[in-house]
Amino acid sequence: MAGLYIHVPFCKQACSYCDFYFVTRTKLIPDFVDRLVAEIRSHADFKWSDETFTTLYLGGGTPSLLKASDLQRIVAALEETFTLRLEEFTVEMNPDDVTADYLEQLADAGVNRLSMGIQSFDPQLLQFMHRAHTSEEAERSLKLLSESPIPTFTVDLIYGNPGQTVEQLQNDLDRLLAYDPPHVSAYSLTIEPRTRLGKMREKGKLQPPPDDKVATHAERVREALAGAGIQQYEISNYAKPGSEAVHNTHYWRHIPYLGLGPSAHSFWPEIQDDVYLQAQRWSTVRHIKPYLDSEGEAPVEETENLSQEELAEERIMLALRTKWGISEQELQQHYRFSWSDPQRQWIKQQLAHGMIASQDPLVLSERGRLLADSLTVDLLSV
Ligand code: SF4
Repeated sequence: MAGLYIHVPFCKQACSYCDFYFVTRTKLIPDFVDRLVAEIRSHADFKWSDETFTTLYLGGGTPSLLKASDLQRIVAALEETFTLRLEEFTVEMNPDDVTADYLEQLADAGVNRLSMGIQSFDPQLLQFMHRAHTSEEAERSLKLLSESPIPTFTVDLIYGNPGQTVEQLQNDLDRLLAYDPPHVSAYSLTIEPRTRLGKMREKGKLQPPPDDKVATHAERVREALAGAGIQQYEISNYAKPGSEAVHNTHYWRHIPYLGLGPSAHSFWPEIQDDVYLQAQRWSTVRHIKPYLDSEGEAPVEETENLSQEELAEERIMLALRTKWGISEQELQQHYRFSWSDPQRQWIKQQLAHGMIASQDPLVLSERGRLLADSLTVDLLSV
């Protein structure tokens, strides 16, 4: 079992917070589709061509800038090259690209999940984020989604913006919940150095909100969504029971995935008798020009080799961000990893402090999950 990720690196304009790889030269889309189809076909005789791929995720960038006919070509090339038994086929979309016709064409191409980048309904915040869509387009896109033949969808929301009040956030949540979303990904705004917001902060023109305000926002998101039956299952992800994202959940469980397109990441472990021996993670070139100029497989920009111990530690870190956590039996079976005596002691202490909800499987409490990264560092370094 494995996943496929395709990076579509085109956007109409640059959102002020975005650190993903994209270009705004959308006239390159036809060349990109030709090159992507060639890249897919070049993978025909690799070890992964025998694997069964159960999830396909088109992310970006803005995959909804592709025509439905482009998508059909891409899917046809994937079907010729790989064994696909798609349980989940997700396409990321922006609200300004949605029409009823387009949604029907995507459904015909096999798409069964859409990921809509709403971020906010507030006109001022949309302007601050430099989003290409308006508040009205956000509402219209969700109405179309809830009436479309595509069975499920998720919505992205950003909270913790400078100057954003809890009332503004509540208004975003109320407007979102009116469309009964099965899944929501909610992220606190992060200001990355290479972005427009990063430059504003560098010049002293922007102050990120204090941590306690961001924590209040996070709590409001969790409570409002839980009130609508949409439960947190990972730090940034919330779903109604049974609507959890399959593709992303596979990332956290070390299921192999192959990334295609510029700046796409791949992860391929070597597994023997259910034991992860080691793994390789790599990313393709982060620029469109060398990607379009290359032939066959996309040029690789970075490669990382992970030992069994590193894999075990990463699996623990990812699992502690989720409601499922991880059992000691799974760590032993797949990674030959057992807790040391000081780690067992630490787990007992954190259980007493209310940071851990369950010892085996090891699951953080809601309070603990807010500090998941630093708690994991503590656990792995005792
Ligand atoms: S649409 Fe998405 S990928 Fe494109 S700039 Fe905005 S956040 Fe980044």
